[in-house]
Amino acid sequence: MNLNDSSLFHSQCLIGGQWVDADNGQTDNIDNPATGEIIGTVPRAGTAETARAISAAEQALPEWRARPAKERAAALRRWHDLMLTHQEDLARLMTAEQGKPLAEARGEIGFAASFLEWFAEEARRLYGDVIPSPNPANRLLVIKQPVGVCAAITPWNFPSAMIARKAGPALAAGCTIVIKPAQQTPYSALAMADLAERAGIPAGVINVVTGDAPAIGKAITDSPVVRKLTFTGSTPVGKLLMSQSAQTMKKVSMELGGNAPFIVFEDADLDKAVEGLMVAKYRNAGQTCVCANRIFVQDSVHDAFAEKFAARVAALKVGPGHKDDTQVGPLIDQRAVDKVEKQLQDAQARGGRLVCGGERLEGNFMTPSVIARATPDMLCFREETFGPMAPLFRFSTEEEAIRLANDTEFGLAAYFYTRDLGRTWRVSEALEYGMVGINNGHVSTCEAPFGGIKDSGLGREGSKYGIDDYVETKYLCMTVD
Ligand code: ADP
Repeated sequence: MNLNDSSLFHSQCLIGGQWVDADNGQTDNIDNPATGEIIGTVPRAGTAETARAISAAEQALPEWRARPAKERAAALRRWHDLMLTHQEDLARLMTAEQGKPLAEARGEIGFAASFLEWFAEEARRLYGDVIPSPNPANRLLVIKQPVGVCAAITPWNFPSAMIARKAGPALAAGCTIVIKPAQQTPYSALAMADLAERAGIPAGVINVVTGDAPAIGKAITDSPVVRKLTFTGSTPVGKLLMSQSAQTMKKVSMELGGNAPFIVFEDADLDKAVEGLMVAKYRNAGQTCVCANRIFVQDSVHDAFAEKFAARVAALKVGPGHKDDTQVGPLIDQRAVDKVEKQLQDAQARGGRLVCGGERLEGNFMTPSVIARATPDMLCFREETFGPMAPLFRFSTEEEAIRLANDTEFGLAAYFYTRDLGRTWRVSEALEYGMVGINNGHVSTCEAPFGGIKDSGLGREGSKYGIDDYVETKYLCMTVD
């Protein structure tokens, strides 16, 4: 791969400051989803290597936890700076293993780094409390302490940002961490860990183990040393890891699947709604958990909206991520393409009309599609598509839109467009979702709390709330006379 600093490309795990292979020497191939070309290998590590990574994190904990927050903050800040210094290399690495257009990959590196900066700032504001006591002899205090060794299991759709959003608050709070990146995208994680070392973050504070996901996951959940598991990925795997974590009563946070409604009311600015939907639907080729999944458009503006939207979708440029004009890259693998294709076929079999796109191209590419006359009996109503397909559903009243939007077990992000103030509040309060975009198709930012309800998960990442998951609240009751 063509990198300015080729030493950022690592094919080994990082455990206790050592770059190491799997004990048995086995490896997994990592491919480029745009070409199928093998770009390298990483160790196929499992239980034993994970146990060593957990021990390394445990050994590094006392010294890291004892550092003044200001020093931990300075190290995080240096890590942030190094990510930006190496933004271009990190972006190229990401596009090669993940497929997203380079412009989006550069954007993700900036987004990832923003969490390191944010939590460097938050590290110094881990305030406790002094509580007025009902007994004059007592003083009641609350202090916040790091939970200890944490583990993060992360997905392939945001290979860097999901790590920064977890390692940032963990390190800020004084925790150490073992990271298991997605099988498809280990190189972004390993390059980040290299930069953390260069930033002066001590050996063992960050460890990265690649390989056998169920074995690594089990070693993490079974370990009483790991006090917290933070996971981003699919709902079934999240539920499995949560149940496995019950045995050791870990703190867990779960960022799981979504099934985002995108509602266009008749009083909306249609051009802005189209603009917002393009971002909410087609970013990362539709492979984000906050992607608009079901688009509800009110009767009187439905056809005008559909026409404007389909014209924009048909004009999207599909291609490999490294090409400058690409707007929609490949999907991550054939399984992802199969899923979208199945939803497209199901929708058409149930009376949906394919307005544009839907073509399966060579490799993992697919042309972005729009389906009109979508109905709630279709797979695309119930399941997260995770691909570039946009089903349009008609509705007539506000109540109906809210009912349809909430008719899912998921509750991550929702979006709606309106210019009516009363409706803005009514709908915001009625939507059973953790995040709501109002006249806005892109809500994620390090300053705001990201997370879902219902089957979309537990906990919030980013923002002033994001560090809560990495600290324990300890109450001190002191008698002073
Ligand atoms: P996706 O289907 O989008 O890949 P997953 O939930 O399968 O989503 O993957 C998210 C992360 O969970 C990845 O790092 C993956 O390797 C990991 N993972 C998958 N299955 C397990 C498991 N049984 N135990 C632990 N981690 C797992």
